[in-house]
Amino acid sequence: MIKLPPKLNLANLPTKIEKLTRISHELGGPQIYIKRDDQTGSEFSGNKVRKLEYLVKDALDKNCDYLITCGGIQSNHGRATAAIAAKLGMGAYLVLRSSGEEPLEGNYFLDKLLGADIRFITPEDYKERRMEIMKEIKEELKGKGHKAYIIPEGGSCGIGTFGYYSAMEEILRQEDEMGIIFDAIVLAVGSGGTYSGMFLANILKNNKKKIYGINVCDDAEYFKNQISKILKDSCYYMDEELNYTEDEINIIDGYVGNGYAQTSPEELEFIYWLARKEGLILDPVYTGKAMKGLLSEIKKGTFNNHKNILFIHTGGLFGLFPKKELFFK
Ligand SMILES: *Cc1c(COP(=O)(O)O)cnc(C)c1O
Repeated sequence: MIKLPPKLNLANLPTKIEKLTRISHELGGPQIYIKRDDQTGSEFSGNKVRKLEYLVKDALDKNCDYLITCGGIQSNHGRATAAIAAKLGMGAYLVLRSSGEEPLEGNYFLDKLLGADIRFITPEDYKERRMEIMKEIKEELKGKGHKAYIIPEGGSCGIGTFGYYSAMEEILRQEDEMGIIFDAIVLAVGSGGTYSGMFLANILKNNKKKIYGINVCDDAEYFKNQISKILKDSCYYMDEELNYTEDEINIIDGYVGNGYAQTSPEELEFIYWLARKEGLILDPVYTGKAMKGLLSEIKKGTFNNHKNILFIHTGGLFGLFPKKELFFK
């Protein structure tokens, strides 16, 4: 049994599920549905708010008045953290990966608007010692009379996992209401927390769904490892062992393209095509790559055994605006 920790109610839930009629028809394979987690809010939009509902509750229960977290310059997670901190009267300190002067755009602009403290660190420091740097900031804040709570990258840790554990419960209720069973769930993987939550719920609730992650950085091996670590951390909240093997973690590699947050002309073309085809806007860093991967894999036959696929739109709209010049050249 799992003891779900307490949470805040910040997201607009449940998010709706829609059918992508025209592309399902055009591909002629499984029916494709999309869960609109891009509509969990506006300031709080995207997948991170579901994790933060648990994380920030934990911070408040520990009497913290500051949230420290990290991410790329256009981090959706950083922006959601800054918005929630402002809403709750807390401070937010964001450690952002950047190699120099950044244009005031997208999520970074919103971080400033929401009053977050920001520290830029180099990509090397980010990779090697971001946790150390966040701990130093925690000490500095302590000197100023604050108690800070450190949230790891993407909110992907044991407690954050419950955001998508709960999302799976929401999907199961929606399946009942809609009279449909989604046999596959497909989502973008950036730090692994969203995948971990879905995977955990799928096992503990004895569902037979297949959960597919499409990685937008690193590779499948890296994420199998990462997800196993996060799941181990979630086990702290359970009074039984979690039984699974790493081969059950389905990561489809091959859609990272030019690298994390780097966009190729084919990806831009794909986002443009889908916007006109379905009136649906994807982001360049996560959902654009993942949906492109899903449609390519459907064409290859990877999903031939599936009838109904549910893609999770994890958000990221604000990250599209800094890329606008690349679209119409
Ligand atoms: C962070 C993020 C993801 C990836 O989720 P993880 O839990 O970090 O793997 C996907 N889509 C968007 C828009 C995100 O901001």
